[in-house]
Amino acid sequence: MGDKRDYYEVLEISKGASDSDIKKSFRSLARKYHPDKNPNNPDAENKFKEIQEAYAILSDPQERNKYDTYGHNRPGGSPFGPGGFQGVNINIDDLFGGGFESIFGQIFGGSRSNRRNRGGDLLIRHTVPFQAILSGWDDELEIEALNSCPKCDGRGSKNPDGTKSCPSCNGRGRVQRVERVGPFAQQVVSDCPSCKGNGVIVSNPCNSCKGEGRSHQSKKIKFSVPPGIANGNRIKITGQGEAARGNGGDNGNLYIEIEVEEHPWFERDESDILMALPINYADLLLGTTIEIPHIDDKILKIKVPTMSKPGDTITIQGRGLPHMRSSRGRGSVTVLLKLEIPNKISKTLKNKLVKLRDDIKISSSTLEESITEEANKRRGK
Ligand SMILES: [Zn+2]
Ligand SMILES: [Zn+2]
Repeated sequence: MGDKRDYYEVLEISKGASDSDIKKSFRSLARKYHPDKNPNNPDAENKFKEIQEAYAILSDPQERNKYDTYGHNRPGGSPFGPGGFQGVNINIDDLFGGGFESIFGQIFGGSRSNRRNRGGDLLIRHTVPFQAILSGWDDELEIEALNSCPKCDGRGSKNPDGTKSCPSCNGRGRVQRVERVGPFAQQVVSDCPSCKGNGVIVSNPCNSCKGEGRSHQSKKIKFSVPPGIANGNRIKITGQGEAARGNGGDNGNLYIEIEVEEHPWFERDESDILMALPINYADLLLGTTIEIPHIDDKILKIKVPTMSKPGDTITIQGRGLPHMRSSRGRGSVTVLLKLEIPNKISKTLKNKLVKLRDDIKISSSTLEESITEEANKRRGK
């Protein structure tokens, strides 16, 4: 850790940079070095961690101030504890929205002050049609979540002045006590038993929520799925999670994990889509044009050249799926040609084929010659 770089240098900003400069620079550097964009690249991984550490410090006014005063050698050691900075897990989605801010907000927040009472996050899975990848999708769903009780406005008491700050914990909801374990004295923090961690004492409790201040209610959530979405992507809806315990505090967030329905014939490879096309011997040899309905509601024309072979692929540019979060147009459709062999054959066709068999034969070479030629092709000779 001897040659630790200057945090301002890491974020490529000046000493006087404003909060929004810091955020902007962090966002763009983090996107560049995010592990999702740099798989198996330890250099990028280190850089990503370095940027995170610099941002954690410089985005926090108190920590930034200490850094400006002492640099990396502040009294009391690393602000991240004896192990130093461990890195945080940031979803690349959060770099586009503001999701990363709350992650960093918690790094020092927990130890300095009483953490703000915050409701739980919710995760639900939701399936969208394949079409959603192409054009995006507006959707709505109904969820049941712990919400602030409407009968008592979340107070928990029937009367407006029926709540008071808990005297045992001074409204913090947590109590500290010292426990002795052998020779060691250890500070233990736990939920306050008098107010069950709520920080308030409720008199004349509300019938609807039994003094809890929140109750299960169903609500409708409208959301948009962006084009290019993939299985497992999560859409974050800020503030639509559970209400916080006790009065006040922030709602948790709702995460909608998207599952994309299977297409009847396409497989997806990021923005490209692949399909197999069964085709008969005559069409392979003579070439043909096949037209099928496509996901963009326009006909997809597949031009099979003459003398095609089973296993050949035809690529149609620009008719695949959009690239996630970029306007670089659409990916491609790749069509794999497969020789279609019928399960049954009519007598007439059989008779015709028997007559054809000799004509189809590749006359000029012997059997051994054609087998050898095939082997050479396979071996790349
Ligand atoms: Zn209490
Ligand atoms: Zn109530």
